[in-house]
Amino acid sequence: MPDCDEPWSFVLTQQLTLVVGTRNLKKKKEIERILEGFPVCLQSLDDYADAPDVDEDAPSFEGNARKKALTLADALGRWVVADDSGLEVDALAGGPGVRSARYAGPNATGADLCRKLLGELEGVPHEKRTARFRCAAAVARPGEVLFTVEARCEGCITNEMRGKGGFGYDPIFFYPDYARTFAEMSPDEKNSVSHRGRALAMFKAELQKYLKHDEPAGRS
Ligand code: IMP
Repeated sequence: MPDCDEPWSFVLTQQLTLVVGTRNLKKKKEIERILEGFPVCLQSLDDYADAPDVDEDAPSFEGNARKKALTLADALGRWVVADDSGLEVDALAGGPGVRSARYAGPNATGADLCRKLLGELEGVPHEKRTARFRCAAAVARPGEVLFTVEARCEGCITNEMRGKGGFGYDPIFFYPDYARTFAEMSPDEKNSVSHRGRALAMFKAELQKYLKHDEPAGRS
């Protein structure tokens, strides 16, 4: 009989419960859609009224993802997947980067963020408007971060907002292969090429290893 306190025993006894560590409804929906059909029981922070707010003060996307995942896993006693993402604009020396969410002040809407960035890039020619979304995702269980993955999606910043889908900077992020902004793409199109879609595809492959084996690779 497996010992249920044994960290890997869920493989033999029950489906893993995984909490998506975000309160951003649109981001949560994207993550749920990407993980659809994956053999885990997904919960969100909405299921945990007293989940702590985690200060995203690390200097890197990976640092913030690790901090969020571990803090929430410790607080909730659950496995947690948390991501940190943002937009890097070359003409702004990589900004807003890890400050992407706070770039236009504490209660800014997606439209506020887009307007602020378009203002900063006024007069910057097309060829210098290159940018990328980056996403780091970390999976933790109480006491430890199990693994992290990171992915990016290259594009450029438009001169005006285009499209009604997505969230945040989507209306001004132009994806050249589709010749449209992220906000003009369907959720499935965006997920198939986006930083978060790619990071979560890597995440699924990695988590699969934990679901397949009673014990993680290298554990004796
Ligand atoms: P965080 O990962 O919740 O810290 O959010 C980072 C910020 O980056 C978000 O609030 C958005 O403004 C922006 N961002 C991250 N991913 C995307 C995306 O897929 N589309 C548009 N904006 C995004």
